[in-house]
Amino acid sequence: MAYDDGNVFAKILRGEIPCNKVYEDEFALAFHDINPQAPIHVLVIPKGPYVSFADFAAMADAETVAGFFKAANTVARELGLEAPGYRILANAGRDANQEVPHFHLHIFGGANLGRMIEKVRG
Ligand code: AMP
Repeated sequence: MAYDDGNVFAKILRGEIPCNKVYEDEFALAFHDINPQAPIHVLVIPKGPYVSFADFAAMADAETVAGFFKAANTVARELGLEAPGYRILANAGRDANQEVPHFHLHIFGGANLGRMIEKVRG
């Protein structure tokens, strides 16, 4: 799947639409989700044009991959989530209902999040 640079996160990276930023470095930008699903719901996105987790893992160089995941760890720590705990999730493709075709991690926290996901029957 080709990267669509008209997606909403590409627009945020270019500064064309605002975000509620919590962290930024050379590898990642993190901001509050516009429709939070937990008391704390932050998105962490790489700065480069990667459609999905698979695209990022396959195409980004090792420094970029490491920098991105270290940035996500910094975000969780700076949000005060290390001690109480948190959940990281990445939706990929149709069955996960990925809405925005720019790779992103969701960081959820601020309350007990229950177990994993709702049970799904195929
Ligand atoms: P996903 O389904 O994993 O692609 O999640 C996309 C997420 O992006 C959803 O949780 C949306 O609420 C969130 N989102 C969409 N537009 C914006 C925006 N302009 N600012 C912040 N979050 C957004």
